[in-house]
Amino acid sequence: MLKKNALYVVATPIGNLTDISLRALDILAKVDVVAAEHIQNSRHLLAAHAIAAKLISLHQHNETTVTNKVLALLDAGKSVAVVTDAGTPGISDPGAILAKRVREQGFPVIPIPGANAAICAMSAAGIMDPHFFFYGFLPTKTGLRKRELTALRSQQCTLIFYEAPHRILECIADMLEIFGPKRQLTIARELTKLFETIHVGTLEESLLWLQADANQQKGEFVLLLSGSETLDKSELSEQARHTLICLLAELPLKQAVKLTAAITGENKNTLYQLALDLKVAG
Ligand code: SAM
Repeated sequence: MLKKNALYVVATPIGNLTDISLRALDILAKVDVVAAEHIQNSRHLLAAHAIAAKLISLHQHNETTVTNKVLALLDAGKSVAVVTDAGTPGISDPGAILAKRVREQGFPVIPIPGANAAICAMSAAGIMDPHFFFYGFLPTKTGLRKRELTALRSQQCTLIFYEAPHRILECIADMLEIFGPKRQLTIARELTKLFETIHVGTLEESLLWLQADANQQKGEFVLLLSGSETLDKSELSEQARHTLICLLAELPLKQAVKLTAAITGENKNTLYQLALDLKVAG
């Protein structure tokens, strides 16, 4: 049963048009108005399911203004659904401002669950870690991106990022620089679409794999990066720390790590992480 005066937050497919729930289709067919990120894209989805809805445009540049229109519709007893181009509204997408204001005005905000690219990637990646940290899109400028990545270095759980095709190589190259070569990276590309690819490797190997094939650099990406949990730097001996600090003062980072590992017999990855920490700390 459709509620009047309610806003329905409806998840739509992230590629395959049939990845939409029966409830979502029912709601979209019955609401008075559908607020859509791009009217053309949503018309295409609705037409594929034989739904003719009244569409209005709601995107990141007009969300505040359109929220007022939606509030007026709800006030007049109408029901409204919000959808974005793909996946769940409000997740790296418009919808949060609308949901907040509608809720504040005392109208029901009803979620209609469905596709989400991050969860879709996690579901097939086979990652045993039960915890994850969803970041979404990193900054587009290299300096800011590296700063954000550096701040995430001690996170122990899986890190989830969204990335655009024209930045995918530079983004993974920055990750390699900040996190070192050994962390696991899952590249989930074009999920639910014709060229769906899920590639798992170390950061170093994954970047080489991507660089080697221009076709793999196209489309939409979710990146799942393993956390720092396996690298317990507190297990390092005092002698190893001291050796590393001395060598870092004289040698490039990789060489200092390699020599320290050879001298002390400590784990190279753990030393690498400590060396990066020391470098960041100056
Ligand atoms: N609201 C959406 C959700 O619930 O996942 C996310 C929208 S955000 C604007 C678009 C980004 O999500 C893309 O740049 C990409 O990083 C990721 N994405 C969306 N669809 C995808 C797909 N089919 N395969 C891989 N990543 C996808």
